[in-house]
Amino acid sequence: MTQLVRFKIKPELVELFLTIKGTIMSRKSSFISLFAGLLAANLTVGAALADGEVNIYSSRHYDTDERLYSDFTKQTGIKVNLIEGKINELIERLKAEGVNSPADVMITTDAGRLFKLQDDDLLQKTESAMLNERVPAALRHPEGYWFGISKRARVIFYNKETIANPPATYADLADPQYKGLVCARSSSNIYMLSLLASQIANNGADAAKTWATGLLANFARAPQGGDTDQLRGIVSGECDIAVANTYYFARALRKDVSNLSGSTDKIGWVFPDQDGSGTHVNVSGAGITKTAPNAENAVKLLEYLTSESAQNYFAAGNDEYPVVEGVALSSSVQQLGTFKEDDLGLEKLGINQAGAQKIYNEIGYK
Ligand code: FE
Repeated sequence: MTQLVRFKIKPELVELFLTIKGTIMSRKSSFISLFAGLLAANLTVGAALADGEVNIYSSRHYDTDERLYSDFTKQTGIKVNLIEGKINELIERLKAEGVNSPADVMITTDAGRLFKLQDDDLLQKTESAMLNERVPAALRHPEGYWFGISKRARVIFYNKETIANPPATYADLADPQYKGLVCARSSSNIYMLSLLASQIANNGADAAKTWATGLLANFARAPQGGDTDQLRGIVSGECDIAVANTYYFARALRKDVSNLSGSTDKIGWVFPDQDGSGTHVNVSGAGITKTAPNAENAVKLLEYLTSESAQNYFAAGNDEYPVVEGVALSSSVQQLGTFKEDDLGLEKLGINQAGAQKIYNEIGYK
């Protein structure tokens, strides 16, 4: 467990110590009093620590995280304990710990995963007027089980030298004119599941299946690698068109990403469906665990994560968009330009996740 903030002695504890010391000096003979005083001191110290911390299980790690959480401690006096890991490991750990889990807050990427946490009955509702005001309705659970804290879009990238007429919509990705040109990652990846889930929510399961079938027929190669590898495929010439999240490209603009940075001039991008329902967006998000021992502090942490400074840190750390209106974009993200986003409530991505997996299985998209 990473302790981000050193223990600070609170004035009330000093006062308590002086009271006990006074008791010792004036009533040396009374061991009973001394014992009672020490017991009370112990209980008070225990309570003060329990009241003053919040425990986060996070599948996100970025260099700015430590500064993000130490600022929270500076503002509130609440100590942050952070455990990082892969989301499935964190979920298993939370389940195994049961009611004794120290975890207060789960942070992970993709609404599909946040849905899974809620579906497994691991989260509790959070009542916060501040969160409801700052986080747009589409980017949080309608009953408050989780809240988006940074946003990404899943868009189309293409080779500007070989593709004169890039796809303008997700539907276009399935158009036979792009046969043998499109790259995307495996269907078992949550991003591809959520993208198809959004197609089901917007167009119905039959249309979504037709679309996925057309997409599969246009593949340049068997699905492989992560989003960065789809972009590298454009650089290497294996792919002319690729589907990837915005931050993978923005990251390559900001810092060195091997076999990609230095060749980004070759790559164009399209925010799909600008004349229709808008581009598919998703979030990194957070929810309070059902068994949170420090639920009040957890609410404060979530509220802090929607503050302007935290939004800057959190989104910029991964080249994502803030979820809160009016917060400035980092310079790498600014380069991508503005776009109209799909305002589909993201809980629908979770609701339609099983249906999406079924379609991918049926059509043989591995
Ligand atoms: Fe990612």
